[in-house]
Amino acid sequence: MISNPSTAGIVNFEEARRLVEEHAATVLAGRADLGGTETVELLAAQGRVLAEAVVADRDFPPFARATRDGYAVRAADVERVPARLEVIGEIKAGDLGGASQRANSRVIIVNRGQAVSIMTGAPLPDGADAVVMVEYTSVTESAQATENPHPNAAQTAALGWGTLGAPGRFVEIQRGVARGENFVPQGAEARAGRVLVEQGRRLDHAVIAMAAAVGASRVRVYRRPRIAVLSTGDEVVEIDATPGAAQIRNSNSYSLAAQIEEAGGEAVRLAIAPDEPKRLGDLIEEGLACDLLLITGGVSMGKYDLVEQVLGEMKAEFYFTGARIQPGKPIVFGRCKCGAGAPARVPAAPGQLSRARAFSTDAQGRSAPHYFYGLPGNPVSTMVTFRLFARPLLEALAGMKPEPLVFLKARLKAEVRTKTGLTRFLPAVTSGELENAGVELAAWQGSGDIAALARANCYLVIPPDRERIEAGELVSVLLP
Ligand code: AMP
Ligand code: MG
Repeated sequence: MISNPSTAGIVNFEEARRLVEEHAATVLAGRADLGGTETVELLAAQGRVLAEAVVADRDFPPFARATRDGYAVRAADVERVPARLEVIGEIKAGDLGGASQRANSRVIIVNRGQAVSIMTGAPLPDGADAVVMVEYTSVTESAQATENPHPNAAQTAALGWGTLGAPGRFVEIQRGVARGENFVPQGAEARAGRVLVEQGRRLDHAVIAMAAAVGASRVRVYRRPRIAVLSTGDEVVEIDATPGAAQIRNSNSYSLAAQIEEAGGEAVRLAIAPDEPKRLGDLIEEGLACDLLLITGGVSMGKYDLVEQVLGEMKAEFYFTGARIQPGKPIVFGRCKCGAGAPARVPAAPGQLSRARAFSTDAQGRSAPHYFYGLPGNPVSTMVTFRLFARPLLEALAGMKPEPLVFLKARLKAEVRTKTGLTRFLPAVTSGELENAGVELAAWQGSGDIAALARANCYLVIPPDRERIEAGELVSVLLP
């Protein structure tokens, strides 16, 4: 463990990411015991992390489900086309299906030479082994058949089947169909009792759909980790204050709070710390009582950049004290024990009582060191470094395996020239075409230009060995 900020070192992007992922894995391994869970309404669980798997309460689909409007047939009957089949009934979504749907064996069976008109979402009747799409059929009448109602007609009605087609209707099938086509067999997606979504997954809209499909109107999720946000700087003022001529509104607390909530954490915004060691130290101490502390500003090389110094005096461990990236080079990552071993008390959110956290202690009830990040104060740097390095740890604290960074490819619209040595994550705009997506840099004035980032929709990633990238080249893009 490195406890001296000056020796922890500046690492490249990959190494910084690797270190963060390594620590995130350790956090996740210990998280299950320490975190605690709660049960919440399904929609309130959006963005939260599942503490229990979503399990199939019955087969999915629960019956052989037609995926097309058309005719349920025996594939063998339509090997040669055109084929003429007798229509013995109609099943719409919600009607009962074949024998597997009821204990009663007296069900209509699609026998040789017969078909049942069927709608998307309806259960396939017994005997049928395929659905012919309605587009490849045409209905014909037969005077002769009308005089001989289908023998199953009364039985069909008694069983609550779908309406029976007018007796004597015939359908001409113009195109053959293979067995198994245009329906999903019962249980093909999952058998009853199988895990559909693993514990530890974030509830996005697809997971919410799955939970809804098994009837989970409430779900058990991990408690959200509390993430302290500490902005530093003598020039920084709260956003509802009228800033003096040389003062800057504390936008970082807000961007970070938004990013924290998105990632599944609960933001605890602390008071602004001045560039003065005592008060800064007190506020760091307060922040370390939370599950993770994010400090912004005060990590550059300036005379009043005191964050590393104060943390060093608090015997913090540093894993890196800079990353060769732009924006965000001065980022610091480490861990520090909070207080003198006393159980951590978490600052109360507005309207809440302060509470001791199981989270903040190890299995023996001892106060464990908590992670912190010193993020650069420049607003774009703050947002980029959170995205790259703080989010994985937060996700682990939230109970999930950190999501990998997903780099997409797009074609560069206009030449880019930079200097080598840093991996760059520059605000950019993708054009969004289905094929041949293009990307170009957003015009920006550097790491303080929030407006440029607000106009952008992605980061253009430039590897450290590139000086010039020509228009037309495929480049990597990271979504925000
Ligand atoms: P620092 O990292 O402290 O040297 O700050 C770098 C730049 O970011 C300076 O121009 C600061 O005024 C600005 N800055 C620092 N903290 C904040 C904040 N909380 N909100 C907005 N801008 C900030
Ligand atoms: Mg500062």
